[in-house]
Amino acid sequence: MDNIKEALLYEKIEKNRVRCNLCFKKCIIKENEHGFCGVRKNIDGKLYTEIYGLVSSVAMDPIEKKPLFHFFPGSMVLSLGTWGCNLKCAHCQNWEISYEKYSDKIIDNSNFLTPESLIELAKKYNSKGIAFTYNEPTIWFEYTLDVFKIAKSIGLYTVYVTNGTITSEALHMISPYLDAFRVDIKAFYENSFKKITGVKNIDSILERTIEAKRIGMHVEVVTNVIPTVNDSRKEMDDLSKWIFENLGSKTPWHVTRFYPYQQFSYIEPTPIKTLEIIREIGEKNGLKFIYIGNVFGHPYENTFCPNCKSLVIKREGYNIKEYNIINRRCKFCGEDLNIVD
Ligand code: SF4
Repeated sequence: MDNIKEALLYEKIEKNRVRCNLCFKKCIIKENEHGFCGVRKNIDGKLYTEIYGLVSSVAMDPIEKKPLFHFFPGSMVLSLGTWGCNLKCAHCQNWEISYEKYSDKIIDNSNFLTPESLIELAKKYNSKGIAFTYNEPTIWFEYTLDVFKIAKSIGLYTVYVTNGTITSEALHMISPYLDAFRVDIKAFYENSFKKITGVKNIDSILERTIEAKRIGMHVEVVTNVIPTVNDSRKEMDDLSKWIFENLGSKTPWHVTRFYPYQQFSYIEPTPIKTLEIIREIGEKNGLKFIYIGNVFGHPYENTFCPNCKSLVIKREGYNIKEYNIINRRCKFCGEDLNIVD
């Protein structure tokens, strides 16, 4: 296995230390130590990724599961995750992989897939694309970049399901090969963001999301609404205004139901009414596509045309039951629905 490779984005600094330039943490790492994510190590004054090709989880998923509702609707995507993460979210659903650090245990529990063998797998299962998901894709940047280069050359689409912490430098490096930036904006205020992630720096995530949009990536935003943490009307009012002003009225915004987990297991699930009120706030602020997520069968898991109000995509969970779109436009009135396919 060749899972250890020199990192692409780092600087050597004094005393044989290095600064990693992949994510907003910009860890300064001493010799023989790891960065916060636990999977990048300073060896003899050089930075190495230790998880190149180490796959913790792999599955064929509906693209709707990411969730991406306006990007190749109804397609199946080969989805992969690795180990470690650069945030430690209090309610992480994927903690078994994201809380791990590099060790023999993760090697034993991984599939090692070269970029070429991963692409062969995608072809075998007739996948329309590749999605790096389950934990933060930025932390195995070198691998995702190599995979995406091949994926794009054979016409597959490419997706990051991300917490938005990537640096501008890394985003630009991968941008020629990355089609969709499905970003979690977990909160809008620093204090709420800190309660969830342990760090305050939401601004960097907002800036990077604007940048992804400007570069031309398809952007969809997810906010998991956690009672007493990020669910104030004011915070969601400000966030929806920010999406409208910076990403555009037709940017899909998924407001999803929180379920108790890990350190937030004492918090009750989000009342559905709260999600509906937030949806109304976003609509009042001009957003055209706001979805209520993690509530099976809710009417707002469907897409309605913002012009003629017709039902254009009917969903049941991750399945599409009706599709009234022609050439990315509403079949009934011709409205542009910000669909990529
Ligand atoms: S990718 Fe890892 S090592 Fe690099 S800055 Fe982020 S947390 Fe630190």
